[in-house]
Amino acid sequence: MSQIKFVLGEDRLPAAWYNVQADLPKPLSPPRHPATGRPLTPDDLAPLFPMALIMQEVSQEREIEIPEEVREIYRQWRPTPLFRARRLEAALDTPARIYYKYEGVSPTGSHKPNTAVAQAYYNRQEGITRLTTETGAGQWGSSLAMAGAMFGVDVKVFMVSVSYGLKPYRRAMMESFGASVFPSPSTETEAGRAILAEHPDSTGSLGIAISEAVEVAAKDPEARYSLGSVLNHVLMHQSVIGLEAIEQMEMADAWPDVIVGATGGGSNFAGIAFPFVGKKLRGEGEVRLVACEPAACPSLTKGTYAYDYGDTAHLAPLVEMHTLGSTFVPPAIHAGGLRYHGMAPLVSHLKELDLLEARSFDQMKTFSAGIQFAKAEGIIPAPEANHAVAGAIEEALQAKETGEERTILFNLCGHGYFDMQSYIDYNAGKLHAYEYPESEISMALAGLPTIPAE
Ligand SMILES: *Cc1c(COP(=O)(O)O)cnc(C)c1O
Repeated sequence: MSQIKFVLGEDRLPAAWYNVQADLPKPLSPPRHPATGRPLTPDDLAPLFPMALIMQEVSQEREIEIPEEVREIYRQWRPTPLFRARRLEAALDTPARIYYKYEGVSPTGSHKPNTAVAQAYYNRQEGITRLTTETGAGQWGSSLAMAGAMFGVDVKVFMVSVSYGLKPYRRAMMESFGASVFPSPSTETEAGRAILAEHPDSTGSLGIAISEAVEVAAKDPEARYSLGSVLNHVLMHQSVIGLEAIEQMEMADAWPDVIVGATGGGSNFAGIAFPFVGKKLRGEGEVRLVACEPAACPSLTKGTYAYDYGDTAHLAPLVEMHTLGSTFVPPAIHAGGLRYHGMAPLVSHLKELDLLEARSFDQMKTFSAGIQFAKAEGIIPAPEANHAVAGAIEEALQAKETGEERTILFNLCGHGYFDMQSYIDYNAGKLHAYEYPESEISMALAGLPTIPAE
């Protein structure tokens, strides 16, 4: 058999999410108020999030039960399959064993529904009927739109304007689920109007779209805001990926030497890696983690570790993270989901604790890796997922050089069937490698906030 698929029965769906905060050798720094720089209280966050999610954000409990209503929806596509990529191994002629967890089997084609469904559920539980959010490439917006439709919550999406033009099918998907979609910057908000006044041709950024969504939620007492990555509770919801993978690797009689993931805000990478890193922190196994990001938006490899604003208009909380500066607008690479200026505080914290390595890849390298993977395995990855593929191939080729029997596990976080324009451009030789935009990043970093002394 050239391909082996490890499938858990639906009764093996995890009963609880895993919270890495319980096992950290050093706790996270607290989120701070964007205006005063003082640590936030749960009440400060109440206009933006339901209390259940605020409590999950700061929880130190190792396990948090997954509500049955959420598990019922997860069951439609979870547990997701884990594959051994034997044909890719053969193509690379490597002694390494390569496994991948495939999140592209979800209804919207990525890992994003794992948290979208949970967030819509908790908001509905607390009587919220309107959610606002941002989306880059559209994977998050379509996932929250789907979850909103399932729980009877209206969803308003601010979509980074460059993607709004380039990804009409994602927009159609959101609208089919009943969501309303605005190109960001928009004229709907003060934040959007201020940016348009200064830069009428702005192609937008996730930082700007977040400002718009936060502003609308903060002004409407009936509405809350929902974020698709970065925050602790989002990363925790994604832990179902790694919890399932631990069991599936056991079925394969294997343990990963290295786990590889693509990092935009950090949620799919944390989802597959944190349950394994928890075992490492509790002395139950060794594992190396490799986070793969775009060279054009290199928050982990080139960013500064500091408190920074989560959005361009400085309405969202300050968090300590690796950042390129909140006003940084990255080049228009095709991996739209990886164009955020910061990195999840938990992923950043693990990097500071030397628990993970970060690498960056330009888009020529990631698309060539994606095509090599597609030819061997038959799945065309999302442009974001190509970063994980490139990282896994690099690990496999290193193992070939040293003759090592390395076991590699990576997260194939989504399929690329809504992103075929990027493959059309790549195949036509129209893509190029963007340089790391150093001068713009220095400018954006000059705007880091000052934190008051305690
Ligand atoms: C959103 C998205 C990402 C980036 O977000 P993370 O929080 O870093 O996971 C990566 N891949 C896919 C397929 C996405 O939809």
